Amino acid sequence: MTTAKAYAAPSATEPLEPTTIERRAVGPNDVLIDIAYSGICHSDIHTVRGEWGRVPYPLAPGHEIVGTVAEVGGDVTKHKVGDRVGVGCMVNSCRECDNCKAGSEQYCTNGNVMTYGGKDRDGSITQGGYATNVVVDADFVLSVPESIPYEKAAPLLCAGVTTYSPLAHWQAGPGKKVAVVGMGGLGHMAVKIAVAMGAEVTVLSQTLSKQEDGLRFGAKHYYATSDEATFSELRNTFDLIINTVSANLEIDQYLNLLTLDGTMVYVGAPAEPIPVRAFTLFNNRRSFAGSTIGSIRETQEMLDFCAAHNIAPEVELIEAAQINDAYERVLKSDVRYRFVIDAATF
Ligand SMILES: [Zn+2]
Ligand SMILES: [Zn+2]
Repeated sequence: MTTAKAYAAPSATEPLEPTTIERRAVGPNDVLIDIAYSGICHSDIHTVRGEWGRVPYPLAPGHEIVGTVAEVGGDVTKHKVGDRVGVGCMVNSCRECDNCKAGSEQYCTNGNVMTYGGKDRDGSITQGGYATNVVVDADFVLSVPESIPYEKAAPLLCAGVTTYSPLAHWQAGPGKKVAVVGMGGLGHMAVKIAVAMGAEVTVLSQTLSKQEDGLRFGAKHYYATSDEATFSELRNTFDLIINTVSANLEIDQYLNLLTLDGTMVYVGAPAEPIPVRAFTLFNNRRSFAGSTIGSIRETQEMLDFCAAHNIAPEVELIEAAQINDAYERVLKSDVRYRFVIDAATF
């Protein structure tokens, strides 16, 4: 056993506070990581507040983790002490179901083990990355290329792969018109990645307040969804729309923006069911889809892609004591574009 300094929520209604958590002893295929930086994802807030279902307390969230390998088990060959590594949203899966065998362990039919609040295969409850260290099975540890600035690498482990995976799956690239709905933590990564893939990218945001940023990230066009004219002007335009917001959208309005065989993919998670008119899908043979995080293979591919294309998220570096204030700012969309915690301050 080893201990870590951490920040954890004692209950759904209390702020996060400093505490000490235990990590399992390093097993034969485990890696002990000294955490350097940890990103704050919107889903951390939903989860610790119990908004996505019951979770065990105290709970240390955090699934955007980068750090340095401090120790490896005897069977580990992929990572060595001193390597720069990352951990994302999952830390294990069954490895036996069809989806796991196909290398899509994010869709493990027996349920993968989430990085925090999950039940690991040894029965223990996982604690996340708002901490000074973590022990993770080597198969779920990613290599973080040296050329990605350390503190900027963390958000790639969730926000990066969550947007990279659908963009790659639906083949965003040259000749494709891609729209990104929302310009937050996920949205700004979707823009940067889709642009690097060679697609023509349009941002659909509530207002034009982040237009300058969007164009700087490589988007060709930027429209306000508060302006009704946007929806008539862009009708039948896009091959792919990635929705990164969790607000309830008037979905048919957006589906109508898809061209023949176009697909709209949800990566943002609204609390309410989404009513879709079948006739909107009949027109242009449109598809309405969802996608969650990405596989370990895709996550590594995304990190290498970001290194090769010089892409990194925009981050605001904070100290651990600022986490609760940062949560309030995330809820107000008052962050450009991801908070990252300096793990030295836990
Ligand atoms: Zn996340
Ligand atoms: Zn599985």
